[in-house]
Order: sequence, then structure tokens, then C-alpha cells
Amino acid sequence: MTSTIRRWVETDTGHRVPNHRSKCRNFHGHRYRWEAELEGDVVDEGGASEEGMLIDFNDVSRILKEHIHDVLDHAFVVFEGDASALDALSALGDDHRTLVVPFIPTAENLAKWAFLQVAPHISSTYGNNLRLAAFHVRETPKSWASWVP
Ligand SMILES: [Zn+2]
Repeated sequence: MTSTIRRWVETDTGHRVPNHRSKCRNFHGHRYRWEAELEGDVVDEGGASEEGMLIDFNDVSRILKEHIHDVLDHAFVVFEGDASALDALSALGDDHRTLVVPFIPTAENLAKWAFLQVAPHISSTYGNNLRLAAFHVRETPKSWASWVP
């Protein structure tokens, strides 16, 4: 029997979808929600701090802060092939927070990216088969994408 837990963090992040037929080609931003879904067995070691948990939610929060929030909050994500956007962003100087990625920054692609950022940091000392099972990204209150490897 496995259990799942979810924890999310939010960022204010800009992007654009350069090939989009309509308004998504414009520079704009979202209040993104980055939600990690973890799966495993509940820790049954008597007296352990994590007894009855998959992992301490605070540990997941710390990982999301370091590897998602602190990279993307008040940043602009840009596709490495989007030459005109890269030109515009470079004009803002080196201290502008820009994340260049090798994919068009749609919610679907960002969900996979976020999964790959976070997965290596999910571990447990309890042998409870803990792993990152999926990553969900909310771009707007009505729009979510998920990556499930
Ligand atoms: Zn957008």
C-alpha cells in the first residue's frame, strides 16, 4: 500500500510562448503554483520524528523553496531559441533574473522541468520507497499541467 502527499510553492514568473497564435506570444506573467506529489510507504519506525508520515512536509517545502521558488520567483523564463526575447532580456542587464531553458516554457514543459529539478533531492533514510511521483503546475486557476514519468 502506498500513500501520496502533495506540497506546493508559488512564484510570480514571466514567460511567453513565441509561436502562439494569439496573446500568449506577448511577455506576460502568472502566479504559478508548483506542486510536488510524493509517493511511498508511511514510516513505521516507532519513535521516529517521521513516524506516520512519508516525509516531513517541511522537508518538501525546503526543497521546493531552494530548487523552484528561489530560481523562478520574479524571474522571466525564456526559450533558448527565442532570439528576439533573449535580445530584449539581455538589454536589461546581467542582474535581471532570467532563466534560459531548452524548451518553450508552457505549463506542460515546465512541469517536466520542475520534476527533474526536484526529483534528485527527494530521499529518505527509512527505506520507505519514497519518490517523486508527479509534478503539477498551475498556470492559472483554471489551467494545470502534470508530468508523470
Ligand atoms: Zn502564460
